[in-house]
Amino acid sequence: MDYLGSFSTSVAVALPAAAIVYLWERWRLARPGGPYARADFSGLILLIALAAAWWPHLADNPQLTAVLFGGGLIFLIAALADNWSKGWWLALLGVGVIAALLSYQGITVRVVNLPFSQDDISLGWLGPVVTVVWLVICSVLFAQAATILAVPLGVAGLAAGTLFLVCLLQPTITGPVAAFMAVMMCGAALPQVPFARLLSYAQARAGAYTVGYLVGAISIIGALKNTAFLVALVPVIIVGVPLFAATYSYAAELRRGWRAVVFAERRGHLHDLLLRQGYSEWQVIGLLLGGTVYLCLLVLLLVWMIEVTFVVKTVVVIAALAFGLLFLYTLLRFLPQSRTGQPPATIRQVRLLGMPLDPITLADALEEAERFLEEDHPHMIITPDASAVIRAQRDPELREIIEQADLVAPDGAGVVLAARLLNLPVNVRCAGCDMVEQLCRAAANKRRAVYLLGGEPGVAEQAAANLQQRIAGLQVAGCHDGYFSDEEEPQIVEDIRSKRPGVLLVALGIPRQEKWIKKHLEELGVPICIGVGGSLDVISGRKRRAPVWMQRAGLEWLYRTIKEPSRLPRLVALPEIVWMSIRELLRPPDTGSSPPGSED
Ligand code: UDP
Repeated sequence: MDYLGSFSTSVAVALPAAAIVYLWERWRLARPGGPYARADFSGLILLIALAAAWWPHLADNPQLTAVLFGGGLIFLIAALADNWSKGWWLALLGVGVIAALLSYQGITVRVVNLPFSQDDISLGWLGPVVTVVWLVICSVLFAQAATILAVPLGVAGLAAGTLFLVCLLQPTITGPVAAFMAVMMCGAALPQVPFARLLSYAQARAGAYTVGYLVGAISIIGALKNTAFLVALVPVIIVGVPLFAATYSYAAELRRGWRAVVFAERRGHLHDLLLRQGYSEWQVIGLLLGGTVYLCLLVLLLVWMIEVTFVVKTVVVIAALAFGLLFLYTLLRFLPQSRTGQPPATIRQVRLLGMPLDPITLADALEEAERFLEEDHPHMIITPDASAVIRAQRDPELREIIEQADLVAPDGAGVVLAARLLNLPVNVRCAGCDMVEQLCRAAANKRRAVYLLGGEPGVAEQAAANLQQRIAGLQVAGCHDGYFSDEEEPQIVEDIRSKRPGVLLVALGIPRQEKWIKKHLEELGVPICIGVGGSLDVISGRKRRAPVWMQRAGLEWLYRTIKEPSRLPRLVALPEIVWMSIRELLRPPDTGSSPPGSED
């Protein structure tokens, strides 16, 4: 069989046809007026491309003629249905009737092979029923994704391509007809994907119904020869992604109990949901098609493992699906959303692993600091990184201090990662050095001085000088190193108190600095007290900050660890916070009080 020839023919027909329809739709949409009929020609292009490639073989193969004829009828009925308010039911009925006719023509699931048995079980009168149900499921699920037409076409092309590879891998048990049809389907669907975005503007479903029906029909023909694994595996890819996309919102609601599923007001499909959350159309298409590619690879792996026992294959499928879902979830947390929006007018505190967290940006930090300076009574700001969050889980004193702080800004990639995993609106980190600079700017704007406490002798003075160079009008009330005895402490507190700074930067390391501030907060009377860790070392120039690209990539921790290998044990906090977040995620929510890791 000339696979390459039929593939080229279907591409040669589908590609220019899709380009012409695309240009025509652009022209049509650019013109005001109407009313225009809703139309989606992707299914028609598919049928024409398939017919052209199969033309020389049509006479010898009545099955294909029947599939094409059925496809044409479905396209017509669905196109009518698109322009009629009760269209959904009409299309469904159409698919059902045509599936029954196909079944009558011999295109039907006849036998199945149960996983643990070697024998085929004849379906008898159930065969046509299974065929009808299968074709209806395929059409309906593909139609669910019709608003992003690239998805049904892409899934169809990828599923057909995989079916073709399966046929090549196992030629003795699949048969050439399925391979031939699959390779043409792949060639007719995939070239349309880049043009599909505009076609979907018509919001019509005829194309998606036809695509779904054709994929379903081809899979039945592919499954005729060996139902044992094709019937079990190919459906995984064919309906895997559309099914997941259509049922995702039900599954998401399940976390809140069955009532939420039954009484949910709005049930969008996964792609609608993602679009509403600000992901771009291409991001969503990429995610759904990426998921299909993953399932296709899984199927190829299983075909390759055909000799292995069913139990092992089942374990592989479950593990791969669980991994895929986790990966998808993580990816979604990290993909940039177009609708990140402006910093909120009022910062809404969230709770991360039982701790308060204010999802502020550096611009918000400046505003908040100016407000604190105006209020003139003591405030405490904490910028916890992953190690501080982990430490707070075990150190009740530190937890209490964080709980009572006036502002808890996220520092460190680990905290942002955990927050994103838990779907909390924390997108940027406020690195210690940047925070120090913002606070000093706020102090300069409000004509208040800063006091620097901490670091080795000379560090605070050097950092103060550098800050004064960068920030015009910044006054420094005083400096003191961080290596003092308990006896010296009252003297230092008195020095700070008497100089009445607006901002006190304390660099003694976590958690000592937080505990020190808490102990003296009222006595000092400084409007803003903050623990700044190693920031003074960096600002003074004693230590270098990570290059900007590493800061942007959230890899500052890696740079610091390479420079100071003694910090290696602190890295444990990163996997630990990720693990705690995943555990939190899987925990069923409390019905009463607000759970940690959710918005307040
Ligand atoms: N430090 C101090 N006195 C001490 C211990 C530490 O002044 O008794 C200083 C130390 O010199 C460094 C800072 O506190 O400048 C702690 O930096 P580290 O990098 O450990 O803190 P992180 O930024 O990780 O919280």
